[in-house]
Amino acid sequence: MIQYSIVIPVFNEEENLYEAYNRLSLVANSLDGETEYVFIDDGSQDRSLQILDELNQKDSRVHYLSLARNFGHQIAVTAGLNHAQGQAIIIIDADLQDPPELIPELIQKWREGFHVVYAQRISRSQENWFKKLTAYGFYRILNRFTDVSIPTDTGDFCLMSREVVNIINSMPERNRYIRGLRAWVGFPQTSVKFNRDPRFAGEVKYTFKKSLGLALDGIISLSRKPLKIATYLGLMTTLVAIAMIILVIFWRWYQAPVQLIGYTMITVAIFFLGAVQLICLGILGEYIGRIYDEVKQRPIYTLKKVVGFDQKSF
Ligand code: UDP
Ligand code: MG
Repeated sequence: MIQYSIVIPVFNEEENLYEAYNRLSLVANSLDGETEYVFIDDGSQDRSLQILDELNQKDSRVHYLSLARNFGHQIAVTAGLNHAQGQAIIIIDADLQDPPELIPELIQKWREGFHVVYAQRISRSQENWFKKLTAYGFYRILNRFTDVSIPTDTGDFCLMSREVVNIINSMPERNRYIRGLRAWVGFPQTSVKFNRDPRFAGEVKYTFKKSLGLALDGIISLSRKPLKIATYLGLMTTLVAIAMIILVIFWRWYQAPVQLIGYTMITVAIFFLGAVQLICLGILGEYIGRIYDEVKQRPIYTLKKVVGFDQKSF
């Protein structure tokens, strides 16, 4: 029976795959149970898929899925979780930013009875200040807005028990923010600290736009609080409007030279109200867009190829 599944999303990682496999297999060979690698090719356009095929021929523990196009990191991981067969499932990046050598420590905590063991960064070596700053801000905003608490500075690198993965697999939503789902599930959870290394090779696949999308997904999938911003802004504008009315009546009585002030005030009021309305529409739009995605009931991803898995399991 397979004990450990290592889930590795891959998007154009041809320069990293051999090294990732080598370092992972050193770790896997030292583990006490049977291990499978679940590589997910997320519609790569380079040689990643061929390399996975090669690794599978060489080592039958290498299993892989190939998504029919690029669906994004979170969905690739979802596909991996759907197919993983082990009792403890580890999620790790293919670019070796998450050190595979930490896996035995994660497993140790799992043996002690924890269902989710997430790896928590204590430093981000060689990431630029912008990434550090946005990451820092994001986790703090996320925790302020959302009702489940997501530990700061954790990524997707973690171990989850079979029970937790079964629950996550049974969640039907299409906006899959794994860190959020993982925290929402509950169960005893703990962390292991580590230093996040720089990428072994290749470029970051998360563009600023993709990161922003992920951040929005994270907040909106977990919280309805942003909808309340609209209400607060509305209330604030009402107060400002009342203040202005009082001011105008006041000026009327005292016949101050108000012409210029009047024009300015009208222009400011128009811009202010317009901004508030657009912000509120934007917030509504984010939610409605996501509702639309859910009601379409499409499959979360499409598969082009599935290699190496035990047919019984799905
Ligand atoms: N990835 C993926 N699909 C994507 C983007 C990224 O499967 O659309 C994979 C990528 O191959 C890597 C992991 O997700 O294994 C993390 O991506 P990256 O290193 O670019 O992001 P970061 O380190 O900034 O989180
Ligand atoms: Mg990376």
